[in-house]
Amino acid sequence: MTQPEPAQPRHTADELRAAETARDAWAAEAATQTLRAETAEAELAENTGVLQALRRQRDTAEAERDAARNALAEIRALHTHGRITNTCNDCGEFWPCSTTQALDRHQTQETT
Ligand SMILES: [Zn+2]
Repeated sequence: MTQPEPAQPRHTADELRAAETARDAWAAEAATQTLRAETAEAELAENTGVLQALRRQRDTAEAERDAARNALAEIRALHTHGRITNTCNDCGEFWPCSTTQALDRHQTQETT
């Protein structure tokens, strides 16, 4: 003859209410965290677009800077000192010619 199963412990009404309260708090926290994650994802997508636009602007500005540097180098290469006549070999002005003086006035550390 087998022994009867012992009675399972029963939860009290207070324990059930406490469990329901904990479950509701967890669900509210999960909803809050889901909203935060969705907001962060939206901000990330927006910032990624801004970053891509800034990179394109930087690339354009660098290309313009390089083109300007090349143009200045070509101009400087044309206006050279004619030592015998002490004039510019390109424009014929007395050395340094006005073009060379202008280039020298605006020469920056970076372009030297
Ligand atoms: Zn010149």
